[in-house]
Amino acid sequence: MMKLLKKAIFSTSLVLPCFSIYSPGKADTSADPIALMESYPKDYFISPVDNPLLVSGTFGELRSNHFHAGLDLKSKTGGVGQSVYAAASGYIDQVKVQGSGYGNVLYIKHPNGYSTVYAHLDKFSPSIASLVKEVQYKREKFEVTIDLPKDKYPVRKGEEIGKMGNSGGSTGPHLHFEVRAAGKAINPLLFGIPVRDNRPPEIRDMKLYVLNEHREVTGSYPLPVEKRKEGVYGLKGGLVERRVGAWRVGLGIKVYDKCDGTTNNNGVYALSVFANGALIYSWTAEGFHFDETRYLNAHCDYAAQKKFGAWFHRLFVLPGDKLSMYERTEKMGSIALSATQPTEVTVVAMDAAGNKSNVQFTLFRDTNMVVQEPVVYQYLFPFNQQNQLQLGDFNLKMPKGTLYEDLRLKYQSEPSNRSDVYSAFHRLHEYTTPVHQFFEIGILPNELPEALRKKAFVARLGGKRADNCGGLWKDGLLTTQVRSFGTYCIMVDNTPPTISPVIFDADMSKKSAISFRITDNVDVTDKADALNWKGMIDGKWVLFEYDKKRNRLTHWFDAQLQPGLHTLSLEVVDDRGNRSVFERSFKR
Ligand SMILES: [Zn+2]
Repeated sequence: MMKLLKKAIFSTSLVLPCFSIYSPGKADTSADPIALMESYPKDYFISPVDNPLLVSGTFGELRSNHFHAGLDLKSKTGGVGQSVYAAASGYIDQVKVQGSGYGNVLYIKHPNGYSTVYAHLDKFSPSIASLVKEVQYKREKFEVTIDLPKDKYPVRKGEEIGKMGNSGGSTGPHLHFEVRAAGKAINPLLFGIPVRDNRPPEIRDMKLYVLNEHREVTGSYPLPVEKRKEGVYGLKGGLVERRVGAWRVGLGIKVYDKCDGTTNNNGVYALSVFANGALIYSWTAEGFHFDETRYLNAHCDYAAQKKFGAWFHRLFVLPGDKLSMYERTEKMGSIALSATQPTEVTVVAMDAAGNKSNVQFTLFRDTNMVVQEPVVYQYLFPFNQQNQLQLGDFNLKMPKGTLYEDLRLKYQSEPSNRSDVYSAFHRLHEYTTPVHQFFEIGILPNELPEALRKKAFVARLGGKRADNCGGLWKDGLLTTQVRSFGTYCIMVDNTPPTISPVIFDADMSKKSAISFRITDNVDVTDKADALNWKGMIDGKWVLFEYDKKRNRLTHWFDAQLQPGLHTLSLEVVDDRGNRSVFERSFKR
């Protein structure tokens, strides 16, 4: 019976939908969002939490530097501690503990080839929790990744595997649930999990982008829309047509979906664009490989996000965007405009329950309008090749695949007027232009005392404080890898981290935990390391749990510690090797 079931499931799951190359004249249903929905087994997984299912985040949602890879399910009670169940039978394949990101997370492998992921847990089931603690003490590390042998920790469908929590980067109690297969995250809502959603997506705003012959953006206009009735939208002010001073355009859309019972602005499942009845663009949140999630920065209007916090989906594909969530149509979303012939445009947004909203209008080319403003720049960096700058006091090496479109790079160097800066300011382009992968920069120091060389770091300015991007000395230049444009210079960090007691005094006999707040004077990013810590009681390593979002270190007392007088020592070290030690005796 089991064997038969396995086989049946495999036969459905093997049809992992793929995106075929566009071939004119040939019907292609492989990227049809509805066909994709129907291709997944609907009764294999049960919901990992109790009803009612309150969805606070959907798969494929636009997030900072990534597409959301799972489904966020909120607590029924609003707090932590609600049961989390295995969505199907299988075995626990991996357990991880992290102070940020997924927090406490479990990975289960299922016999049909899929895996499921349960993140931000408050607690693991007792057997897993004791295994984790044992490994943490053995490795003397809080953050651990534990790979488990096949079938050592089997789970049955519906068995409790932990409690819902708020661990890691989570900002409110919820379960982050993922379904994976072959290195790909797949939309959990494609598996028949009973989420109630009777509302069509809400189209909030649109934009119009002027494109050149390479599908690169040379300008943009607002294209405000309004709701005409449920699921039907049009141009604002009752308008039906728009004239544009460009021969080629693309669209952008700000759109959200709400599930029943919650007010969360969730993402949509599919977006498509039709020009004069022909499909020219299709994006579907069916699944993606983890190594392509950063293409989010090409898919969204990165500048609108950085400047205004507005998430627009581009309804056209930038030349350097290799994301697999698009159907490879011939036009890839670009719309050629004619001055005499109208171009009828329809944009359709659909949620995972199949509710649809659309917006329709007509575009004309206005040959009297002038749009292009000349761009002032210093260097031209083609997107499809390696680029570099060798200026002596500032070097840059950018591998192929770093840019999404050709870059007219602006660069300026200015002498520093600040006593805490040990180089010129290197203004490297604009923070509103996305970068796909790390590139190397090297900066020549200026009047940096020999004694401070070890404490020097590459700083990116822009926020309230400078960010430490790391840095190693290479041929006299402080060199590191970064993933953003902005103003770079050399700064020095010789300030040790601070350790402030939250729960600690001489008499700890009535307390269940020791807790400290640890902070540093500089924020780290890119290649710089986060704070490292080591807690010891009477010279022996003890587990301090770390919650990065609260800067909190906590040690829970256990039966190992006998009543009496003890010595605690807590050491915290930052990226540049600055060290603080807190040492005190206490009574237990
Ligand atoms: Zn999530």
